[in-house]
Amino acid sequence: MEEKIKRAKELIESAITTYDNVAVACSFGKDSMVTLHLAREVDPEIEVFAVMTVYKPRVTYLYLRLMNSKWNLNTTVYIVADHIPEALRDDALNVVLLPVEEFASRSLQIKAQTGKEIYEADPDECCRLLKVDPTKLAVSKLDAWICGLRNTEGRTRKDYREIESKGGLVKINPILTFTEAEIWRYISTRGIDPHPWYGLGYRSLGCETCSHIGGELERDGRWINTSKCGGECGIHTQILK
Ligand code: SF4
Repeated sequence: MEEKIKRAKELIESAITTYDNVAVACSFGKDSMVTLHLAREVDPEIEVFAVMTVYKPRVTYLYLRLMNSKWNLNTTVYIVADHIPEALRDDALNVVLLPVEEFASRSLQIKAQTGKEIYEADPDECCRLLKVDPTKLAVSKLDAWICGLRNTEGRTRKDYREIESKGGLVKINPILTFTEAEIWRYISTRGIDPHPWYGLGYRSLGCETCSHIGGELERDGRWINTSKCGGECGIHTQILK
């Protein structure tokens, strides 16, 4: 594990010295927190951004706010919403509200056609509007972003590489080879407070509507009962820039 930590820091350091504009993408899940902790050991001032959605559990907003304050992160939060959720109201956060019109009209359209919410009937479209498009905006001024992807998390993550270049953006995955057990060991040995929902049995956290307990692999509880089960929201599969 010490070798993996050393390698992760080398990757982060190399990204910071190679590129002018680098940031850590943080969902405030366990893997993001380890990635962020490692990145801040290399550069305590590293830029941090989060893409939140109106369907994230309130506890995620509260955890984000808590860790932002505790670690003095100065996080920029992007969210498609017409107002800042009460739990994210904090002067220490830079919340960027993104237009809701397209999401609202597509949600209504899909509901009228199927009788279901957008995240049930067309989760790809929901993720595009709430996660992928906001992430495109978040990375638009970056040369490289640092993410907490891991190869053993799920069926869709086996083939990622430590450094990927897609379109005009480089992605660094410093904890790619960490196992779930190593993530928890890192969290406990560094005294990091994890998101409280891990204590309920969740192994992978996203929007409340699409995250469930259970499954063989960590991400198997994501998008259960949809075509996307155990899959990806799209930010790691699409060209963002
Ligand atoms: S995870 Fe679910 S609710 Fe969240 S953006 Fe994707 S489909 Fe929508």
